[in-house]
Amino acid sequence: MHAAAFTEYGAPGVLRWQEVPDPPCGPDDVVVETVTCGLNHVDLDCRAGTAPWELALPHVLGAEFAGTIVEVGAAVRGWEIGRPVTAHQQFACGTCADCARWRPDLCPHLELVGYHRWGGYGAYVRVPAKALIALDSIDQADVAASAQCVLSVAWNMVTRLARVTAGETVLVPSASGGVAGALVQVAKLAGARVIATTSSAEKAPHIEALGADDVIVYGDTPVAEAVAELTGGAGADAVLDTVGGPMINDHLASLRPDGRLAICGAHAGETAAVDLLSVFVRGSRILGFRICTPDDERTALRLALTGQVTIPIAARFPIERAADAHAYLGERRHVGKVILEHPTRAPKT
Ligand SMILES: [Zn+2]
Repeated sequence: MHAAAFTEYGAPGVLRWQEVPDPPCGPDDVVVETVTCGLNHVDLDCRAGTAPWELALPHVLGAEFAGTIVEVGAAVRGWEIGRPVTAHQQFACGTCADCARWRPDLCPHLELVGYHRWGGYGAYVRVPAKALIALDSIDQADVAASAQCVLSVAWNMVTRLARVTAGETVLVPSASGGVAGALVQVAKLAGARVIATTSSAEKAPHIEALGADDVIVYGDTPVAEAVAELTGGAGADAVLDTVGGPMINDHLASLRPDGRLAICGAHAGETAAVDLLSVFVRGSRILGFRICTPDDERTALRLALTGQVTIPIAARFPIERAADAHAYLGERRHVGKVILEHPTRAPKT
């Protein structure tokens, strides 16, 4: 098959549309012909060789994809050729002690599509049938390939990690990002009041359109002071932070006593000096997002496919130009999801 694969780590140019071996279809697998594949920032780390996974090269990325079943393994029941599908971006063994106690996220055998096994940058993807999710129509492919990652993270952070409840106030810093934009929408679904921040006044209307009640544009006033003013001095119940970095003390200071700071990213800085005095004087709780569960992924897809949450698409690239798509994503100027279109994709009418 053809795939946007890389045979060495390096700059975006190492990604080339080239011939690689077809994925074999095991008895419990199906093979999906890819239509659309979503990009994630971790793809760039994998290509550059800085991701936490050791990859066997050549490698084919692509955690989020959608397409049509073209081959069904001998032991698979309930799936047939021609069915439009997407797949869980990760799946657990289902038999270990952690899986048995309903913690598949802790399964030592957890496999991530596109990292532990080849993904949607290839023309075909081998998927265990247990990881498949049916689509009503191939017209849902773009949403299915865009929403699973960012929205499942947002869903997990709001409902499981920070446990946001109706009537609470949450702060979402730098809300123009993919996960942050989903956090705004999911926190609104949970019934929260959402205060968002952005570095650019130009992005403020976009963030308001996602449902944010108030948007603070970074300026001379510390965010914590702006939040205090908006909440009558009370502070936010939770901060849902995707950026990390030196703003962490301002974010902690935005919380009410006993508030929660949930973190799922560190693009603004992977280390920061934390004011520990304020953490224990104010009883702040700092929570790290680790990984979603299959339930989170399923819920995320349902929210997106039913239109309750919208993941904007920033740009589309033909799969042959995956290197250009990586370069574009690396510039971090986009708002929304970047997706790759395979030649199988029917032209838009
Ligand atoms: Zn397991």
